[in-house]
Amino acid sequence: MPRPAAERSRFLPVSRADMAARGWDQLDVLLVSGDAYADHPAFGVPLLGRVLEAAGYRVGIVAQPRWDAPTDIQCLGRPRLFCGISAGGLDSMLAHYTAFRKKRSDDAYTPGGLAGRRPNRACIVYSNLVRQAFPGLPVILGGIEASLRRAVHYDFWSDSVRRSLLLDAKADLILYGMAESTLVEAARRLQGGASLEGLPGAAYIGARPAEAELLPAYEDILARPAALLEATMAIERQVHQGTAVLAQAHGNRFVILTPPPLAASGCADLERIAALPFTRDPHPDYSERIPGLDMVRWSVTAVRGCGGGCSFCSLALHQGRRIRSRSQASVLQEIRAMVRHPEWSGAVTDIGGPTANFWGAACAGDPSRCTRPSCLSPGICPHLKPRQREYLGLLRAARAVPGVKHVRVASGVRHDLALQDAEFARGLTAEFVGGQLKLAPEHCVDQVLTLMRKSDFSLFERFLEVFGRVSAGEAREQYVVPYVMSAFPGCTMDDMKQLAAWFRAQGWQPQQVQCFVPTPGTVATAMFYAGCDPACRPIHVARTDREREDQHSALLPGRHLPPGQVAGAPPPPRPSPQAGGRLRAGARPRRSSR
Ligand code: SF4
Repeated sequence: MPRPAAERSRFLPVSRADMAARGWDQLDVLLVSGDAYADHPAFGVPLLGRVLEAAGYRVGIVAQPRWDAPTDIQCLGRPRLFCGISAGGLDSMLAHYTAFRKKRSDDAYTPGGLAGRRPNRACIVYSNLVRQAFPGLPVILGGIEASLRRAVHYDFWSDSVRRSLLLDAKADLILYGMAESTLVEAARRLQGGASLEGLPGAAYIGARPAEAELLPAYEDILARPAALLEATMAIERQVHQGTAVLAQAHGNRFVILTPPPLAASGCADLERIAALPFTRDPHPDYSERIPGLDMVRWSVTAVRGCGGGCSFCSLALHQGRRIRSRSQASVLQEIRAMVRHPEWSGAVTDIGGPTANFWGAACAGDPSRCTRPSCLSPGICPHLKPRQREYLGLLRAARAVPGVKHVRVASGVRHDLALQDAEFARGLTAEFVGGQLKLAPEHCVDQVLTLMRKSDFSLFERFLEVFGRVSAGEAREQYVVPYVMSAFPGCTMDDMKQLAAWFRAQGWQPQQVQCFVPTPGTVATAMFYAGCDPACRPIHVARTDREREDQHSALLPGRHLPPGQVAGAPPPPRPSPQAGGRLRAGARPRRSSR
């Protein structure tokens, strides 16, 4: 049932009537998304829509179109410049299947949390629909599915190596990472009739530039699995250093990968984007709640990038390791706007990003020449200059905004980094935990941690001591929730037994156990496929579902993964931090798994 025009006018058009209300007869850009339409900065396609709108373009959104016919895609008419496509906040295969390749029954980014509103391999399916609906229209892919499949990659769900998504989707361009500036530049180029080739942060099919570094070709990777690891490490370096142009042959065609834009204005750009007029609401056409929106509605993204460089995390190839942080003034401005929202409840549920306590961190060296795969592992890089004390000040300033009752940190926190600043560790524990603090030691066995690029497990144990002491001193009943992973490449059943023994020794029941899923594009996935570590030494890989389940069950006897949480992906909505009740430090009352 269409809602009143005034309510709908706060959103980008989703129908011809919405366009007519704005006096538009044609869009410049059509955006197609596998997620529902929630006008929130944490939702990629609506965010890009706002950015294009602010740049002067007429933008419309088609969210979760039917895919048995192009009718939904056609409902706003042929756009003047291009169609942008995203599978949504998750790779569509990851959204649809569990770690054991069983079909999921829910989808956090759909009204009512219902599964089945987007197709498998959504980028390919939507691209086909767009070509059918609007022959000859340029198609630009973005979002996590396209980003992580921009080069040759291993696909866990078909147990095969696949070509760059560009070839299978027959798209003109992939914009990887957080593509706000490059998408606007693409619109400018198409408007001016210029080529999209050479755009930063992009993948396209074209002639190999003379300066391009050659990646192992598709055919080479099929014949020699270790070549996938070489290619993945080179792409990871490109994203971090931001210098080389890469080229990967598929037969007689080349996929060209340009380095990401690393503009000095990056932080100012983030602030401009955050100040756009997001309603923080679901589109009024929906009658049911969107669980993924409920989870983040009152959270603030204050930082992008993560220096951790964990080998299983998609971020290293998506947002990269360079840190970009918004100023305190910008964060507080967003919170003041949230407080004016009619449904505001008083709690800022998170001020963070990929890793909260990386806010404000800087590299005193030269990242363009940095060859370390992580700023934190195997030890903290001497060039890393964190600003955790200032981050604590930001949290306190947010709490002092009139109308704010609580501020919590729900983003991941690096405990190894937190231990560098006792005042930060104390302040975070005493003031901003809100019942539980999720930390990700991931394992306790050295060789597994090394392959994950995680820090020494003794640092986690040290942080637990600090957390317990501060919590007791403040008489706060709160606890740490350790996230751990089973079936990681290099992890054996004996390693899992060691991890289980550690939990038993604490008297803890593991809560957040994640069975490794080889998501496209990560270094860990390349290790899974190649059966070796980055130095080409053979490693044990739990490859069959049976062995993966056995490793998983070592921590959760008799249990299988419920739909929801898997490695290499942002976690789906969780209960609010208070949902588990009041507890003593360091323990959890119930079991769950991710
Ligand atoms: S030099 Fe150190 S701090 Fe800078 S990017 Fe490299 S690892 Fe990180």
